[in-house]
Amino acid sequence: MAKELPVAAAVLSPGTSCGPAVLAGIGASAVSRRDLGEAERPGELASLAVALDASVRALRALAKRVEADLGADKAEIFESHADILEDGDFRAEIETLVRDSGYSAVAAVREVTEANAREMEELDDEYFRARSEDFRDIGNRVIAELSREDCACPREGGDAGSGSLSAGDSPAPRFPPIPSIVVSPTLSPAQTVSFHLPHVLGFVVASGGVNSHAAILARSLGIPAAVIPEEILRGIENGTVLALNGESSQVVLNPERETLSLLRQTGEAEKHRAERLASLLELPAVTPCGRRIGLYANAGGMKDLAGITDARAEGIGLFRTEFLFMEESSFPSDEKQAAYYRRVLETMGDRPVIFRLLDIGADKPLPYAPHPRENNPFLGWRGIRWLIDNPDVLLSQLRALLLASAASGRTVRIMVPMVCRPSEMAVVRELVDRLRPETGGRAILGMMVETPAAAMTVGAFKGLSDFVSVGSNDLTQYTLAADRENELLGDLYSEFHPAVLSLMKKTCEDARKAGMETGICGEFASRPEAAVYLAAMGFDELSMSCRGIPGVKEVIRSLDLRKAQDLLGRALLLPSAREIRSLSVDFLRSEGIGS
Ligand code: PEP
Ligand code: MG
Repeated sequence: MAKELPVAAAVLSPGTSCGPAVLAGIGASAVSRRDLGEAERPGELASLAVALDASVRALRALAKRVEADLGADKAEIFESHADILEDGDFRAEIETLVRDSGYSAVAAVREVTEANAREMEELDDEYFRARSEDFRDIGNRVIAELSREDCACPREGGDAGSGSLSAGDSPAPRFPPIPSIVVSPTLSPAQTVSFHLPHVLGFVVASGGVNSHAAILARSLGIPAAVIPEEILRGIENGTVLALNGESSQVVLNPERETLSLLRQTGEAEKHRAERLASLLELPAVTPCGRRIGLYANAGGMKDLAGITDARAEGIGLFRTEFLFMEESSFPSDEKQAAYYRRVLETMGDRPVIFRLLDIGADKPLPYAPHPRENNPFLGWRGIRWLIDNPDVLLSQLRALLLASAASGRTVRIMVPMVCRPSEMAVVRELVDRLRPETGGRAILGMMVETPAAAMTVGAFKGLSDFVSVGSNDLTQYTLAADRENELLGDLYSEFHPAVLSLMKKTCEDARKAGMETGICGEFASRPEAAVYLAAMGFDELSMSCRGIPGVKEVIRSLDLRKAQDLLGRALLLPSAREIRSLSVDFLRSEGIGS
């Protein structure tokens, strides 16, 4: 029977699709089962043994790599995790729950690791208290292994944590094996890129905000996605036919003919819009009064470059270098990085490329870079903070970028993430200056404005930063104290909030006064109704996932800048994001733009 689910507020990624569901990350259907019959238990014990042994192997391999790259002390933690998993008493405890009490393997692992974690937490000794998270990590690893067995899904991080991506190993099976809609409670960025994308018709998740990195990736890949309540998601089975409409974040289980025909109509309408926008492809983004605004693309890897060229982007306004690091199993050498950056520069030819320095931490951990557990990872050790504390990594990346510049004969643009203080930019600038003669490279240095601290003090960066690029995804979360990953805050998290818009406007004005070029590279830049305000503020460049370029170009080419500036003035007097957005949507409609 067709079942329609409630419409969610957030649009994770637009587009429509229909296909069988494939479960990822919830293969452990027995998570909460504690009632296995006698006959089921031997099979469950066998699965448990396989998962425990696989986890031990993965941890030992990981420890070896970490030891080679970072030293024995850093590897110790993974060895100790493997030792725990090989400990006879620990294994017996888990096995007893399965054999004697009918627990599923997942439930038993969860029970035992959680009990150990809680015991540690109760100890007075701070060292032991900190070890409680080790047990949770161990539990998660084994459960991921068990889940993988259940649904043949790939490990998070393209296996970076398990050692099976190294050259010479047999490749992991393609997942999904056939074209399907991937259903998973959560999706990390690393997971998203580890799927066999030609087979991914869509994503259905239970958590994740519009500007979570997984949603950004889905949008840039053009894969529709929807967020639905977890209890409903957990009721979806492998093979259930789903009809997915990303625009309305609607999912219909076992759709009937009527739903399919509606879905087809939506698809047709999208096709017509795309055809209309295609006619603008070769035209510049220039307003009727002659103001030119650079339309740039955001990229995460080499595979994005063809699409960027097809969309006629004028350059890359944000190259997220994290993904290069995520695809590796240890820090890539200077040479390897340099060769990669050089390929990017050469492929892009004369078009400028802004490389963002490694922005790890928060939702983008690197499995081979040990990271302490943080209570507030988004407020924690990430971006330039982490890089300054890991100077070898920072130096290596800067050297590689400059070497790529020298080898390609192009100037490289380097952008620093999560800046709060001029001293952070000073560190990077000094290193770049030091590396220049040795490498022969040329670089222009810029800062991301992602924190209210940076937005409020842009003028203080004069002489340290040649350009600014507003990272509106993070600027919004930090201004509104609203986690960008948390779909419960979908209503609050909005770049149209007057406080966020005011900070963007101030950044643009102050940066211009300080002689810096101004850009924005958050997802906001890809929305036609945002382009009205951003053009009015005076940004030189808008950088977005390249699928957004045609719609934004259409706005710019028809926009009366004087009217847009007047609209911005009125918008900033409004009290809510909803009203500010509506004002622009209504304006576009009344001007006949985009319809
Ligand atoms: C941003 O914060 O707006 C940004 C572009 O960076 P990221 O989304 O990678 O955090
Ligand atoms: Mg950011």
